Amino acid sequence: MCRNPYESEFQQAVKEIFDSLIPVFEKHPKYIEQSILERIVEPERVISFRVSWVDDKGKAQVNRGFRVQYNSAIGPYKGGLRFHPSVNASIIKFLGFEQTFKNSLTGQPIGGGKGGSDFDPKGKSDGEIMRFTQSFMTELYRHIGPDVDVPAGDIGVGAREIGYMFGQYKRIRGAYEAGVLTGKGLGYGGSLARTEATGYGTVYFVQEMLADKGLGFEGSTVVVSGSGNVSIYAIEKAIQFGAKVVACSDSNGYVYDPSGIKLDTVKRIKEVERKRISEYVLEHPEAEYFEGCSGIWSIPCDIALPCATQNEIDESAAKVLVSNGVKAVGEGANMPSTLEAIEVFLESDILFAPGKAANAGGVAVSALEMAQNSQRLAWTFEEVDAKLHQIMINIYRNSMKAADEYGYPGNLVVGANIAGFLKVADAMIAQGVI
Ligand code: NDP
Repeated sequence: MCRNPYESEFQQAVKEIFDSLIPVFEKHPKYIEQSILERIVEPERVISFRVSWVDDKGKAQVNRGFRVQYNSAIGPYKGGLRFHPSVNASIIKFLGFEQTFKNSLTGQPIGGGKGGSDFDPKGKSDGEIMRFTQSFMTELYRHIGPDVDVPAGDIGVGAREIGYMFGQYKRIRGAYEAGVLTGKGLGYGGSLARTEATGYGTVYFVQEMLADKGLGFEGSTVVVSGSGNVSIYAIEKAIQFGAKVVACSDSNGYVYDPSGIKLDTVKRIKEVERKRISEYVLEHPEAEYFEGCSGIWSIPCDIALPCATQNEIDESAAKVLVSNGVKAVGEGANMPSTLEAIEVFLESDILFAPGKAANAGGVAVSALEMAQNSQRLAWTFEEVDAKLHQIMINIYRNSMKAADEYGYPGNLVVGANIAGFLKVADAMIAQGVI
């Protein structure tokens, strides 16, 4: 920890994982003898670079770009790119570290990586987005490749940005390497169901967790934070499973619609018009809009799905959720609950699905996109969705099994961390000290 004194998010992620690995080290001292902890916590490579671009007024702008190639023990580095003003080395390292364990949990042959920039896409024109992403790729291209490192989207990076980056990569490399990025458009190597995968996968995972207790989404009231890619498709699947989703948000505030969020409106506002969620109430006056995000957790619900960003549920929000009778919390976002909030969930008798396991559906389908690109095939939506569903069930079962085996029955935080760790650690040992 003292080697990274200013990296609070990174330290938080490391603490959460290392605390839950204690029973593994007690049972298998080989991981201590092989210095696996010291090795796994250190990224294989951290790349930081200047991204210069010209805005619509002709003025030169500069942002900082990152790619952290965390761990390649079980496959090429794999993980998204985030464009958001909060991006810094700590954020990208925490995401890359988490990604390593998450990717292992999927059962797919993918290592861990993450990247991004402090560029703020909000309010930028299409031309500015294109010039920025082209400049970003002009440096990134030399570090990635279908067998080396395969980036995808994350906050602020969707199909449009992936498209521009793919075009620039192709232009520089002079080769059509479809497998270099995932989350591509369907017309040029993208996979059906990738857009839906993280949100759908989160709901599949939570459904499995609920079913073990004789519960389900049917007839339940759900609150989903965010209104981006993960949120929209979590809402869609929860509604398909018979739930009523009563709230969603963006970084300015949240909408509460007691009659149930109208997903078509949210999709149009966020995916097509790229406007603020506050617009929702102009069309649905029965709904209310509230400034600020944290109040969303005071809305009574059976199931809470935090799908926006890290640390959006703190200890007090967790306590409010529990006292309002929440039965399950499923993390669609990465690390949306603080360590203190997780304590609150684990100490109460609610069901808690950590993001590392619950939101792994996106990267799992990214790996399926890579497989289709290698074979030059395109699977149907139903095929990919069925594989996604089975992967989420497997992640749930493997995490529960690991929790059981190591003395923490039902604790998915411990179970997911251990199940993800073992595969990577064993591969590292098999490959020698490198
Ligand atoms: P999007 O950019 O599509 O959406 C993010 C949503 O969260 C937007 O509604 C955004 O509001 C809101 N948001 C972003 N930052 C903040 C903040 N600081 N405070 C409050 N709200 C915020 O991103 P995704 O849906 O792709 O990602 C959401 C989360 O899911 C992230 O944690 C990401 O790492 C994780 N994730 C994503 C995967 C994917 O496949 N996309 C895979 C696995 C995890 P606004 O529009 O105002 O910015």
